[in-house]
Amino acid sequence: MTANRGVTHRGLPDLSLSRAVVDRTALRRIDDAWLAAAWESPDVHVVRTASGTAALSADGDELDLGRRPEVPPERRFFLGEHEGVPFFSVEVEEAEAAEAGDRFRSLREIGAVLGARDAGLVVHAIALANWHATHRHCPRCGAATRVAMAGHSRVCEADGSEHYPRTDPAVIMSVVDDDDRLLLGHQSAWPDRRFSTLAGFVEPGESLEQAVRREVAEEVGVAVGEVDYLGSQPWPFPSSLMLGFTAHALTTEVTLHDAEIAQARWFTRASLRDDVRRGELLLPPPISIARRLVEHWYGEPMDSSGDAWR
Ligand SMILES: [Zn+2]
Repeated sequence: MTANRGVTHRGLPDLSLSRAVVDRTALRRIDDAWLAAAWESPDVHVVRTASGTAALSADGDELDLGRRPEVPPERRFFLGEHEGVPFFSVEVEEAEAAEAGDRFRSLREIGAVLGARDAGLVVHAIALANWHATHRHCPRCGAATRVAMAGHSRVCEADGSEHYPRTDPAVIMSVVDDDDRLLLGHQSAWPDRRFSTLAGFVEPGESLEQAVRREVAEEVGVAVGEVDYLGSQPWPFPSSLMLGFTAHALTTEVTLHDAEIAQARWFTRASLRDDVRRGELLLPPPISIARRLVEHWYGEPMDSSGDAWR
């Protein structure tokens, strides 16, 4: 085990969904005999997911890993090993999740509550389940595909082509000007008063730095110079990887080009703090890298009613 396991980039340490400690032991994924024995072992731990939710213990602060559903091997996704224990996940029927009632909770609700081991497990399990749910057919020929590599690929039944889980990179950035002010935007689809950092998907053939500059220019008309990487967090809603940056603004005039962004404003630390305290501004929730980017600029964690926003 390496000393850095579970530690994220020093710019944004311990992002809620980036704290994984389970070793993925990817070589096990092709060892069917080992997988079968691990599944049957008394030590096996199983994450049960259902449509973006996961089963929690009665206390609600850790995963319920003690039940082993009766499912065939192709529905057992191998997540890895930790302290000698094998971990799998199984996507269960929504009816079963409903029957279990309030013990299934969404990743947004539990991601920041769970400990590091469980947070890493549930992000891995839900990201895999999301991919399988929408990639049942071959993108080459349209034939059905089957699960392979203990849930980490699918193989076309007709032409044998292999397909791997996709992750969609998205950049998200704190834009800061020469006066150390922070630029935040409000999307028309969001609750009133909620502001957050700008963000957008990386386009084909684009570098991350180019994506940061293009998104800021498109959304608010501000030119960006230097771009520094601060950290990343998986965001499986359904399949994003958020790549966090801080970007130096070369201009400050805001011009809204993008219908998505309804407002954008520059904040000093004092104006942000006062707006948050008065309830005039809602910050993104603590589980998000957006919140951590704001706090990285602010210099310390912030309390706000934004915590209730999901
Ligand atoms: Zn095919």
